[in-house]
Formats: sequence, structure tokens, C-alpha cells
Amino acid sequence: MNGLKDAKKIVFKVGTSSLTYATGKTNLRRMALLVRVLADLSNAGKDIVLVSSGAIGVGVGKLGLAEKPSDIPSRQAAACIGQCELMFTYDKFFSEYGKITGQLLITKSDVENDERRANLINAFDKMLQFGVIPIINENDSVAVEEIAYGDNDNLSATVAKLIDADALVILTDTDGLFTANPQTDETAMLIPVVNEITPEIEALAGGRGSTRGTGGMITKLHAAKAATAAGISTVIMNGSAPEDIYKLFDGHSVGTFFKAKV
Ligand code: GLU
Repeated sequence: MNGLKDAKKIVFKVGTSSLTYATGKTNLRRMALLVRVLADLSNAGKDIVLVSSGAIGVGVGKLGLAEKPSDIPSRQAAACIGQCELMFTYDKFFSEYGKITGQLLITKSDVENDERRANLINAFDKMLQFGVIPIINENDSVAVEEIAYGDNDNLSATVAKLIDADALVILTDTDGLFTANPQTDETAMLIPVVNEITPEIEALAGGRGSTRGTGGMITKLHAAKAATAAGISTVIMNGSAPEDIYKLFDGHSVGTFFKAKV
């Protein structure tokens, strides 16, 4: 039992690789399933916040570009386009279950500035009181490299701390943290529970993830470290089967569970 049965306020983070096909187009089947599960958890009385990546990736797909551009203005533009498409799709799917969504685009400077941070927290609190499902992304059109979180793993931990969440669930394209790289080493085993993120654990993270996503395992471990240090249990699990989220909140072991420290 993972102790998540009673978690009330939950932040989910979903990565670009879980939301899009290799073509760069949205994976509607995946998104529809994820939305249904989150809407259902909301019906069950949980407060749900979704940190969703995909703005740049979906924008690139929509513009028909062969790959993610390397220059910042093109990425900014792609984010403007993709964010719109993402929110349209989320809003459409959540509406099917009578759920209202609200978009919050955040930059690091918003969180670091006391007044804007307080405003952000107010907006979150009010949306949750209204039963709305806030959907968060970094404001990629204005948060250029030097001032950006850069990856939504980090951002999701920040959001979890801002709203004092009970749990953070990071959905990705692998089953969790393994003892070795499962793509290249067949002896690699999934680590079901991590009590403490030591340098040895961090060394298991390897390099970057897919070409569509940003962070890879290391940024997820950093997020887990920040969240668990703030008393927020964190799970890294595969986003390909969103219904597994039910098992998690029934208390079963799914993916890798990082125990909250306080
Ligand atoms: N904010 C970026 C986007 O929506 C994604 C960052 C990430 O992949 O973590 O495209």
C-alpha cells in the first residue's frame, strides 16, 4: 500500500511524448483516456491539477515542420500555436464529462516574485474551489531559455508545492525508474519504491528522453526530490495506460513511488 488512497489534492504532469505521436500530431486516444480518468477522480472528490507539456511539440506538428526548431523565436511561435490546440482538445474532452478547465501559463519569474506568486496561488485556490481542473504549462512564448524552468517536471514540482498538494504523479513514456537503462539492458528492473533520492539513485537516470520531450529521467528525479522534500509523495509511471492511475489511488504499486520526507 502506497498511502495514496487518501490523497485529495493531486498534481499530474504529462509529457510531450505521452501526448503526441512521432508525427507530432496529438495522440487523441491517449488524451481522451487520460481526461476520462482525471474527470472521474474529480467526480470522486479529488482536486486535480494537470501540468501538460506539448505546446511546442504540437505546434511543430501543426505547422508541419520536420523537427523542433532550434531557434528560440520559432519555438516561441510553435508554443503559441500548440498551446491553443492543446487547450482546445483538453477543453473539448473535459467538457464531455461536464468538467471545466482553466489555463494558467507560468514563468519562473511569476513564482519568484512574491506578489505574482500570491496571485497565482489565489487563482489556483479559486479554480479548485469552483471545481475547475487547472491546466498548467510554462509560458513558453515569453520564458526564453535564460529565465525558463525549461522542463515541466521541475514546473510540476513547483506547482505541487505552491498548492500544497498531497501527491505528484509524473506520467512518462517509461514504466518508472529502473536499475539500468531498460532499452539497452535486459537485466534492468523497475524500482518500485525509493525512500531517499541519493546520488546513487540519481546516477541511474541516464541522459535525455525522446526528441519530442524535454527532460528525460533526471529532471523527473529532480522534481521528485523537490516534491518529496516538501512532504509530497511522488510517482513516476507510464502514461501510455492512463487507467493504471486508478490502481495507484486504490493504493497499489504502480511505477516508482518516491516517499515523502516529512
Ligand atoms: N513547456 C514545453 C511545451 O509545452 C515542454 C517542456 C517539457 O517538455 O518539459 O512544449
